[in-house]
Amino acid sequence: MGLSIKKNDTAIVLSGKEKGKKGRVISVVPLKEKVIIENINIIKKHMKPNRKNTQGGIISKEGALHISKIMLICPKCNKPTRISNALIDNQKKVRMCKKCKEVID
Ligand SMILES: [Zn+2]
Repeated sequence: MGLSIKKNDTAIVLSGKEKGKKGRVISVVPLKEKVIIENINIIKKHMKPNRKNTQGGIISKEGALHISKIMLICPKCNKPTRISNALIDNQKKVRMCKKCKEVID
């Protein structure tokens, strides 16, 4: 079983404070069923001073979102969609958009 979301997909946030925002998936954490989307769910972290950064300070980075909170945007029909899996030539597994029935990859 795999996740239906992959790196470089475009996804939309379904719930939480970032609801309705869209962005590019920059990282997927399959074991935790989480994804990181560019410029979404930015969290600020306080860093203690260290050798690289003697000042310390606050850094901003994207926080992971659970996949149940996001939905893939189909690159063919441009709508948020669920994915079904299809087989091409009975062997290659691909993702198919449930809305427009196009193969995504
Ligand atoms: Zn589609």
